[in-house]
Amino acid sequence: MKSLDQALEVLLSSVSAAPEKESLPVIDTLGRILSDDVTSPIDVPSYDNSQMDGYAGVAAEINDSRQPMPVSQRIPAGHPGEPLVPGTVARIFTGAPIPAGADTVIMQEAATVDGQGRVTFLQKALAGQNIRPRAGDLRTGQMILSRGRRLSAADIGLAASVGLERLSVFRRLKVAVFSSGDELRQPGEALGFGQLYDSNRRMILALVQGLGCEPMDMGCIPDRFEETRDRLREASAHADALVTCGGVSVGEEDHIKSAIAALGTLDMWKVAIKPGKPFAFGRIGKSMFLGMPGNPVAAWVTFCLMIRPALMAASGATVSRPIVMHLPAAFDWPTPDVRQEYLRGWIDDGGCVRIHDRQNSSVLSSVTECSGLVEIPPSTPVKMGESVRFIPYTHLLH
Ligand code: AMP
Ligand code: MG
Repeated sequence: MKSLDQALEVLLSSVSAAPEKESLPVIDTLGRILSDDVTSPIDVPSYDNSQMDGYAGVAAEINDSRQPMPVSQRIPAGHPGEPLVPGTVARIFTGAPIPAGADTVIMQEAATVDGQGRVTFLQKALAGQNIRPRAGDLRTGQMILSRGRRLSAADIGLAASVGLERLSVFRRLKVAVFSSGDELRQPGEALGFGQLYDSNRRMILALVQGLGCEPMDMGCIPDRFEETRDRLREASAHADALVTCGGVSVGEEDHIKSAIAALGTLDMWKVAIKPGKPFAFGRIGKSMFLGMPGNPVAAWVTFCLMIRPALMAASGATVSRPIVMHLPAAFDWPTPDVRQEYLRGWIDDGGCVRIHDRQNSSVLSSVTECSGLVEIPPSTPVKMGESVRFIPYTHLLH
């Protein structure tokens, strides 16, 4: 059996090339993968400016002055102002440029204005105070976003803050998603005895979409070798990646593996995680093949732990490990598996981790009623109060 780390190493190293690039308006790049490093073409801010509504002046003059000081000009944000007349201060507002010659801003709450409009300061001035210096945020030429980054709303704001209109991103990965199994019916159809609804395919399509890939709904494949082979071959002509669920365990009705082996190359692994042990990986022509187990929770867990990193790497993204939280357990787990286990759980109001009372891999409601996975290392019992590793879904699927 491969450990999860070994499986990830093979998956990530199998990705050779990133997709082609395209240029998009910055506003359309949310969730897309940046294809080139971005440097700032300007200093931000591009001029020294005031952090306060108040008065700009020369600190030494203000501190030495025994008389109220005259106000020689008024500088609202967006207006350049004039060089400061010596012996005076300038009325200034937040974001307005500091006039040439001034070296400090005193906030208006620390100033009183007399009947002639002259100002007395109630505190000492310090050179540089309340001034946001030019390039205090970003310098011209500084790298601000690196290739492989999945763009967030703040990244979009940052790109706009340096005046960029477009960004170069990788084309969205086309991901064909199949379910498989004669027992599956589609929502809207009536269920016969021995049948269940095809939940996984919708869930996987939604997960794929959430990663910023382009999901292709390829329907449900019946448990027959020829049809399985033909539909996978057809999809491989159009998709960058093929994701199937079900049909990869050892049963006689499991035809996905033999179909991939007939069309391309197949690596069949047992990965030492629970749920999610059976996992198939391979290639048909240029398409990457990822075969997930059919049990809904196993599908969820393998998507979080293996499919997401594989699809993100193939999308050109820099893949980082999910951030793990170390929190006290509010449960006992006395008889752990020899495989690394992923229990569904949540953080309670006291900051402790609780687990769902039904941990069977067919119970999909254990996923929706929880907010993350509790990682139990192989053969490691947990006692109430001990620290456990908790990974929120949001960290696993961003
Ligand atoms: P399999 O790996 O094909 O043997 O499937 C394992 C279990 O997962 C079986 O109980 C299947 O009925 C169930 N299953 C497989 N595919 C799906 C699906 N798309 N939606 C819901 N359950 C599924
Ligand atoms: Mg099946």
